[in-house]
Amino acid sequence: MSYVDEVYQLVVEKNPAQPEFHQAVKEVLESLRVVIEANEEKYRKDALLERLVNPERQLMFRVPWVDDNGQVQVNTGYRVQFNSAIGPYKGGLRLHPSVNIGIIKFLGFEQIFKNSLTGLPIGGGKGGSDFDPKGKSDREVMAFCQSFMTELHKYIGADTDVPAGDIGTGAREIGFMYGQYKRLTGLYEGVLTGKGLTYGGSLARTEATGYGLLYLTEEMLKSNGHDIKGKTIAVSGSGNVAIYAIQKAQQLGGKPVTCSDSTGWVYDPEGIDVALLKEVKEVNRARLTEYAAKRPSAQYHDKKTEGTNQWSVKVDIALPCATQNELNLDDAKKLVENGVLAVCEGANMPTTLEATEYLQEKGVYFVPGKAANAGGVATSALEMSQNSERLSWTFEEVDSKLQQIMINIFHNLDDAAKKYGMEGNYVAGANIAGFLKVAEAMTAQGIV
Ligand code: GLU
Repeated sequence: MSYVDEVYQLVVEKNPAQPEFHQAVKEVLESLRVVIEANEEKYRKDALLERLVNPERQLMFRVPWVDDNGQVQVNTGYRVQFNSAIGPYKGGLRLHPSVNIGIIKFLGFEQIFKNSLTGLPIGGGKGGSDFDPKGKSDREVMAFCQSFMTELHKYIGADTDVPAGDIGTGAREIGFMYGQYKRLTGLYEGVLTGKGLTYGGSLARTEATGYGLLYLTEEMLKSNGHDIKGKTIAVSGSGNVAIYAIQKAQQLGGKPVTCSDSTGWVYDPEGIDVALLKEVKEVNRARLTEYAAKRPSAQYHDKKTEGTNQWSVKVDIALPCATQNELNLDDAKKLVENGVLAVCEGANMPTTLEATEYLQEKGVYFVPGKAANAGGVATSALEMSQNSERLSWTFEEVDSKLQQIMINIFHNLDDAAKKYGMEGNYVAGANIAGFLKVAEAMTAQGIV
């Protein structure tokens, strides 16, 4: 059996009931097959792949907190410190009821390659909890965040592990966690990113993932003789990534016509009203039914009762910005039937493996999340730089660095795909380019 297949089998056997982790590993290892086979003896002897798929450290801990009725609640906290070959662990904290160790491992594994692709010195990590901030009072969220950080603070630091936001963790949660870290350690350091602007946050960090997604999409389209101007776009999600993807798409002359949340989706043929979307989601923390009620041109569709989603709309570009495995083979077929040109992932692994393969077979330009959504973590690394030099850069300075990083990521993965005879296969290009840097650093640092 080939080394790649052996290691994949090992991952499945040793990590039962972690389908998302298996999926992420499978996608990466399949793409690396040609690179590994060219150097199999050396990689096998060094057990490089076994080391790559085994986190350096996995932390799981109890998070007790008291709700507004005086009842004690208990959640589970996680931090997976996956790989520190090229820099301190870096990656977000997901707060969502679906969180378990397998989800955090898939996200941490993806983060290794994503962070490598940014060209910045950051290793891969991820964490979170099965706590659901939805419907909780500010006091309850604070109680949870303080308890979570009371345990997590022992394992993180500005030069060791720097968590950030992800689904369910925004400015409010980062603020509460930062306050508790500072209180416990006495350190005023850049231990978290996505901080508020008054206490060490970076301008453009909020916009970075969505903006970066569009910078990369535009560069990819340009290099294939197209651009965003005049294109109709389906976006899923209505969180931080989706909102700023919609905003930047409009600035570049595109027309995003959909967005979604966990219960429904909106089709707005006039184009999404970003100011209204921000008011509904960022200020009121409300559902998209409120957007539809205030916007005469918008139609609201309930996912459960109708069994539909935004991928049935005829568009030129699809930007999945919600969560993992939200675009399946049936969705991919609908998009292709409707003549979709490109799918670029704003979320982490939103497209299933079968859907990805189908889209690629049908000649749809497909850019995986680990490249397309890397603008968020890249700007987090810029926030770390600003914290280290105790300065803050202007919005324009951060935004222009972000733009350059996204352009570089695209050319880096495009070149890697070409070099290994897989021109236009951006999944393979991203995995290979991300892997080679980490593998070289791991090899140089010996067996650790
Ligand atoms: N959670 C984001 C991601 O998936 C950002 C991580 C960070 O800024 O560290 O990349």
